[in-house]
Amino acid sequence: MISKSIKAAVLCSVILCSSCKEEPKTDDKLMTDNILLQEWEGPHQGVPAFDKMNVADVKEAVEKGMELQLKEVDAIANNEENPTFENTIVAMESAGKALNRVFTYYGILSSNMSSPEFREVQAELAPKLSEFRSKISQNENLFQRIKAVYDASQKNPLEAQEQRVVDLIYKRFEISGANLDAEKKKRYAEINKELSTLYTKFSNNVLHDEENYVSYLTKDQLGGLSEGYIKSAAKIASDKGQDGKYAITNTRSSMDPFLTYSTERWLRKQVWENYYSRGDNGDEYDNNAIIAEILKLRKERVGLLGYDNYAEWRLQDRMAKHPDNAMELMLKVWPASTARVKEEVADMQTVANELGDNITIEPWDYRYYAEKVRQKKYDLDSDEVKQYLQLDKLTDAMFFVAGELFNYKFTPVEEGSVPVFHEDVNVWEVTDKDSGKHVGLWYLDPYAREGKRSGAWATTYRYYTTFEGETNVLASNNSNFVKPAPGEAVLVSWDDATTFFHEFGHALHFFAADVKYPTLQGGVRDYTEFQSQLLERWLSTDKVINQFLVHYETGEPIPAELVEKIKKASTFNQGFGTTEYLASALIDMKLHLADPTDIDIDKFERETLDELGMPKELPMRHRTPHFGHVFSGEGYATAYYGYMWADVLTSDASEAFKEAPGGFYDKDMADKLVKYLFAPRNALDPAEAYRLFRGRDAKIEALMRDRGFPVPQS
Ligand SMILES: [Zn+2]
Repeated sequence: MISKSIKAAVLCSVILCSSCKEEPKTDDKLMTDNILLQEWEGPHQGVPAFDKMNVADVKEAVEKGMELQLKEVDAIANNEENPTFENTIVAMESAGKALNRVFTYYGILSSNMSSPEFREVQAELAPKLSEFRSKISQNENLFQRIKAVYDASQKNPLEAQEQRVVDLIYKRFEISGANLDAEKKKRYAEINKELSTLYTKFSNNVLHDEENYVSYLTKDQLGGLSEGYIKSAAKIASDKGQDGKYAITNTRSSMDPFLTYSTERWLRKQVWENYYSRGDNGDEYDNNAIIAEILKLRKERVGLLGYDNYAEWRLQDRMAKHPDNAMELMLKVWPASTARVKEEVADMQTVANELGDNITIEPWDYRYYAEKVRQKKYDLDSDEVKQYLQLDKLTDAMFFVAGELFNYKFTPVEEGSVPVFHEDVNVWEVTDKDSGKHVGLWYLDPYAREGKRSGAWATTYRYYTTFEGETNVLASNNSNFVKPAPGEAVLVSWDDATTFFHEFGHALHFFAADVKYPTLQGGVRDYTEFQSQLLERWLSTDKVINQFLVHYETGEPIPAELVEKIKKASTFNQGFGTTEYLASALIDMKLHLADPTDIDIDKFERETLDELGMPKELPMRHRTPHFGHVFSGEGYATAYYGYMWADVLTSDASEAFKEAPGGFYDKDMADKLVKYLFAPRNALDPAEAYRLFRGRDAKIEALMRDRGFPVPQS
C-alpha cells in the first residue's frame, strides 16, 4: 500500500466546534437583526446563510452570542433545584447554540475568506472570547454542580454515554483550573487572555510573511516547470498587477512543486529561504519573542494546577497519556528515518554528479534531486502520474469508497438551493444507499485563493447528536488546489490526492457519528487523525485505480505497470518525509518539556536539532517561528506527535484489511470499521475502541514495514 500519510496528514488540521441545533426563539431584537445569530433556514434542517454573511456583523454577533450563552450558563449554575444530570449536564450540552452558529461564519471568515478587515475584528475579539471561556470554565457554582453530578455518578453509575459525558466534562473543568482558589483562578484567566492575543499575533505574522514574500520570475527563469504551473503562476502575477511575470507565492502548494522541478538553483534557494523564514525575519512580524512568551505563560498556567510542564498536563487525556510514551515512539523511529536520509542524500549526490552538476546537496536541492532519483530508480515521473489524477474523478472515487464502506450516496444539491460563501464551493447531499435516509450535506471548497489559509482541513457546521432529536451533519472539506485556467482539468499530485482522501476521512468520521451528546463529538488529538489517515489507504486499492484513476485526455485507466511503480516508490523518500515530520514533532514536545525562563527559541531549535543528529540536508517540516499547529492556538500543542501515534494505528488497522478475505472491501471489516472506529467518536475510550476492532492493541511493526524501515526485533 502507498504510505504517504504523514506527509499528507501534517498539512491538515481538523477544526472542531460544538454542535449547533434549533433552539426556542428569544425575544431579543438582535437575534432577528443580525444574520449571523439567526437560526438557519432553508432545506436540510436549515443551512448557514453563507451568501448573506458580512464581516461588519461579526463583532456584534460574537458579543451577543457570548452574552446569551453566559445567561444560559448562569441559569444552570444558579438553579435552586438539586444538581442532576438533566438540569446540569444536559442543560450545558444544550447551551450556546446562537454563538455556535456565529462561529460557523467566523470559521469561514478566518480560514476560507480572511481579509485585513476581518483580522482586525478577530484581534479585537480574541481577548474577549478568552475571557468569555474563562467565565464559564471558572464558574464556581457551575463547577460545584458538575462535581456533584460526577460524585453521584461514581456511586451510582449512569448509562454508558451519559457517564462518558459526565466524566469528560468534569475532567475538562478540572484540568482548566476549576478546582483552583480565587486568586489562582484570576491569574489563570489573565494568562489565557494574554495567550489568545499572542496566538492571533503569531498567525497574523505568518500570514503576513506568506502574502508579502512573493518571488516574481521572468520568462527565462521557468526551466523545469510544468505548463500548468507556469499558467497559474502567470495568472497569480497578473492578478497582483505584474503582467508578463510569474509569481511563486510563499505557500506550500507553490513552494513544493517549484523546489521539485525548477532548474534554477539560486531561485530554488530564494523560494526555500522565503518559505522557511516565515515568522523569522527579525522584523516587526518576527515570532521568536512571541513564542518564548507563549511557552512561559503555558508553563506558568499548568504550574497553577500543580503540573511540572505543559506536556504532562496536555497529554493526560490523550491516548498516549504521558509525554514519555510519545517520546518513546518518536525516538524508536528516529534512528531508522535519519539513517534513511543518509542513504537518500548519497543517492541524490550520485545523480547530481552523473548529471555533471557541480554541487553538494543543500536543503533547497532535496526535492529537486529526489525527483531525479525517483525517475532514475523507480522510473516514476510525477507529472505522468498526475495525468491520471483528476480532481473530479478523485471526488467520484471517494464517493465510491464511502458507498462501499459506509453505504452512503452523494448527490449534488440543486444549484442555488444551498447558500455557499464562494462560487467555487460545491455541495452534495449524503444519503443512505438503501433506505435513502438523509445523513447530511458535504461542502467542498477546493481551490487556493488569497485570504484562504494554506494546507487542507475539514470542519463541521453541524454535528450529529440525538439528545434533542436527531440532527443531520453539515461537514466540509477545504483544500488549496491551484485553480486551473478555464477549461483545463485539475490534475493533482499523488500526495495531494492522498491528502484529499485524508480530509474526506475526517468528513466521513463526522457523517458516521452515532453519539447522543455534543461533548462526545470531541476529538482526542492523537486519535482523531487515525480515521482520516486510514481512509487514505483506499486511494491505491484496485477498485479505485481501475475505475477512477483514468487519463485526463484519453480516459484510459492508469497502466498496471505505473501503479506497480507507484507502489514500489511508496517507501521512497521516507527518510525525508519521516525526518522532517519527526523533527517538528520532537521540537514541539521538547519545547514544552524545557524550562522556558530566558529561552532563546532560535538557539533552542538549533541546539536541539544538533543533539538529535538532525541531518543538515533538510529542514523541519514546520520551523518553530511558523509552527501554526503549536503556536496559533493550543489544539496541536504537544500534539504534533499525534500524527505518528495515529499512523501506528493506521498501519496496523490497514494490515487487518489486507489480511481479510475481501481485502479493503471486506464487508465484515467495513462493518467493524464503522461500528468501532468511526461511529463512537469520543463516546468510547480510544484504546478500548481499537481493541474491539482489532482484538488486540496496535503494534509498531506495521508502521516500520509501511515506511520500508527495518522492523525492530521484539
Ligand atoms: Zn487530518
